[in-house]
Amino acid sequence: MRYQLRDEQGATHSVAYLMLAAAPVVFLTGIVLPAEHPPGWVAAISLTCVFMAAGGAVARWRARWIPRLWWLIVPFMAIAIIAGMNFASHDASAGAQLFYLWPVLYAANFLSNRVAALVLVLISAGHAAVAFSTLTTTKALSDWVSVTVALSLTAIVVASLRNRNDRLRQVLESQALADSLTGVANRRSFDGELTRAVTWARRGGESLALISVDIDYFKKINDTYGHGVGDQALQVVANSLRVVARREDDLVARLGGDEFVVLLRTDRVSAGRAADEVRAVLAAVDSLPCGPPGLSIGIAVLPDHASTADELRAASDAALYEAKQKGRGRTAMAHPPAPRPSPDRSNEISAAG
Ligand code: GH3
Ligand code: MG
Repeated sequence: MRYQLRDEQGATHSVAYLMLAAAPVVFLTGIVLPAEHPPGWVAAISLTCVFMAAGGAVARWRARWIPRLWWLIVPFMAIAIIAGMNFASHDASAGAQLFYLWPVLYAANFLSNRVAALVLVLISAGHAAVAFSTLTTTKALSDWVSVTVALSLTAIVVASLRNRNDRLRQVLESQALADSLTGVANRRSFDGELTRAVTWARRGGESLALISVDIDYFKKINDTYGHGVGDQALQVVANSLRVVARREDDLVARLGGDEFVVLLRTDRVSAGRAADEVRAVLAAVDSLPCGPPGLSIGIAVLPDHASTADELRAASDAALYEAKQKGRGRTAMAHPPAPRPSPDRSNEISAAG
């Protein structure tokens, strides 16, 4: 995104604290410190202070009332105010330029690089207007170059720290959602995705298949060939499952130990085919000292066998259990839920009871 707003909460807090801090500062410098107090001036400054304090309070505690666009345009408004005040007061001092740090830090921290660059250009132009109208040309030129370079370097440092921070966060987020041995999703990631997928399927009247997979006699592989080969077998099974999760929103997850699931946005016929394909892919693997491990597979499909995430999980688990019970190395399809007794019939039953 070109003009993205990163970390909306950080941006809102930044604006809120600026306004909450600016209100008493403006009051002090505009009313308390000056020797003269023309009534119109006092009224204008007091109103500004009240507006800033109220705006700061809303930004801090009721940020949702404020349209998102505001957080993108706020550094430009700050530049207009700072440049306008400096221009009106003919103030090209270093102290007056320091206020430009806020829009620079805000844009470099929360907005895209393009917006941060635009902010720097506008600050440079604003400062040029003030410096060249109040100082000698030579002094104005050196002052303008110094301010522009200093603020640009500040923006570069802040933006590069932010980019590094973003990359670290991405790595941490993906690690928190992945199984470290096989690289497929972990249970936590699966839980969230199952809920989302069930909502999607119910809303659109689509089918959603949950395929539960468990390696047969996996403990024996560990005991006979060692834990390293067991780990290798887990990776090979995960890779075989990945083959059938072709769509971007299909998901393979390892729930723990030798238990995997595949979530496919498809119907029961295609889910059955996917299970056969996994077995075929796994059978062709010749890199394992123990040979391709056997799999027991249970399939449940929404809406055929379940109507909620919990029911789908339970139906898929029950089908897997059935595959194990019937001798392992096979696939079992869940059974349609037993029809609920109609209200009339249940009355009869309770009356009879
Ligand atoms: P069944 O056919 O009934 O599924 O029997 P099984 O031996 O496959 O099942 P069981 O649940 O008894 O064994 C799972 C084993 O998986 C037990 C545990 O030591 C092993 N295990 C769990 N996590 C890992 C792992 O990350 N690596 C390896 N190598 N083994 C693991
Ligand atoms: Mg097992």
